[in-house]
Amino acid sequence: MRDQQEFKPTPKNWKLVLGIPMLLAALVFPAAASWAVTTGTSPAEVSSGDVPRSTSEVERTTTDVPRIPLYDIDSAKSLQVVVNKKRPLNPVEYFPRGKVQIGYSWLAKPAADAYVLLKAAVSKAKLGTLCINSGYRSFGSQTLIHDAKVALLGKTAGEKLAARPGYSEHQTGLAMDISTTQLGCRIGAFGASRASVWIAANAWQYGFVVRYPNGKTPITGYVWEPWHLRFVGLELAADMKAKKIATLEEYFALPAAPKY
Ligand SMILES: [Zn+2]
Repeated sequence: MRDQQEFKPTPKNWKLVLGIPMLLAALVFPAAASWAVTTGTSPAEVSSGDVPRSTSEVERTTTDVPRIPLYDIDSAKSLQVVVNKKRPLNPVEYFPRGKVQIGYSWLAKPAADAYVLLKAAVSKAKLGTLCINSGYRSFGSQTLIHDAKVALLGKTAGEKLAARPGYSEHQTGLAMDISTTQLGCRIGAFGASRASVWIAANAWQYGFVVRYPNGKTPITGYVWEPWHLRFVGLELAADMKAKKIATLEEYFALPAAPKY
């Protein structure tokens, strides 16, 4: 009682008087109190609209937000872009930056780095010396190839061999037609080689897929091309292998692309 009687509200004591309720409020409403501390207002001034939502509300809301897809299959610059007769490159005259020259060909750097490892593995397995028959092809060079094939064989037969400009994976810098120097680097003979069998079974370990597998022509729009490899990255190639999914169209549940 004596202490109460002696209590005088000096500036120092007033700090104590205001401080105790603030401390209690901090224990009861920790989130509101911390908000008050950062903004310099008391918890009483926090309007209901500003009070942070409970954890369960936040969790429920985040499930409504569209999930960010694991891979970008639409941009030409993406390592996982899906290009086919229904899906031209975006932008259509895209050219990859930072290309690396290998022999007479050019590849986008991630594909070039992976190819070097693949080539070393094929050599180590004594299956021949890999070479690139055709790597990056520009929109312009694809136009020349396409037009020459169509002029020679007609539109239907010509377009079975050469994609329309803007629709070729080779324009991404991530695709390559390979063979071995023992075969004169000709792609036509590659399918019958032991190297081809090994590539079909093991290329995924280097981030490649045989993009136009045997029996998938109605989906990919291309006949079996055991020589045409596409770099998609280690993770995707391994997942396709694990799930036994042979084409990018099936993996990403895209419509089949038998024709333009
Ligand atoms: Zn090719």
